[in-house]
Amino acid sequence: MKYGGCTREGLRGQAVNLSNTSSNLVTHPNLRNSMAHTDPNMIKAYKKYNAYPKGQARTKKYKTSPKGKALIRKLESSPKGKARRKKYNATPKAKARTKKFQSSLKYKRWYKKRKPMMKKHYSSPEYKLSKKNRRQRNLDSWKEILPREALCGICGKAIFFRHEDRKLPRINFDHQNGGNEVIKGSPARWLMNHLATPKNIAIWESCDFGILCNECNKQTPTKDRKQWATNVVKYISKGTAKIVWVVG
Ligand SMILES: [Zn+2]
Repeated sequence: MKYGGCTREGLRGQAVNLSNTSSNLVTHPNLRNSMAHTDPNMIKAYKKYNAYPKGQARTKKYKTSPKGKALIRKLESSPKGKARRKKYNATPKAKARTKKFQSSLKYKRWYKKRKPMMKKHYSSPEYKLSKKNRRQRNLDSWKEILPREALCGICGKAIFFRHEDRKLPRINFDHQNGGNEVIKGSPARWLMNHLATPKNIAIWESCDFGILCNECNKQTPTKDRKQWATNVVKYISKGTAKIVWVVG
């Protein structure tokens, strides 16, 4: 049976002259597929078919086949698929479903089986070591790119990046562009989690971080720092502290 080119009336069994429609419309497989997915009648027909035991068995067979599994994985890991899942999971229906599943025996059994494994994995010295090693490796990869020694931009104190002597004051990377940088959080933490690849170096350079010592970094606000600096200058030249008198 060929659905392509059929009108609503045609599907309902009324006489349709297929020769009247363009032959491409009827036979072109791409067009037929695209029509099948947009035509409400076809969607209805597919749904009806899939609800039959035969259709259900067919769907199940496809979903468990390597081809079907690969397709599901591809769809679910795509940004569109992730967004759809997130949207679906926020619906009351999905929440109720999750809640029901989590109180089911099946979930409890699964969790019971998995819990010691997870606990063992996350508390194992191997896991902790690997995380530590990963961070060390990432930080070390930036040694060639970042300055090893610098002077604080405000107080002029000598500060260091990854110096062997941990007691020496360290370099603090400062959001000097009002927080509009690509790296929003702590730059030091970002360095820990990212290897110095050309892509990451480009991201880092786009941020144009300032270099400060720990104390100066703590005292400098990220936002509206020009206004803050003006206020400081005003204050030290005139003493503009406002006193609020409380009467009574
Ligand atoms: Zn300083």
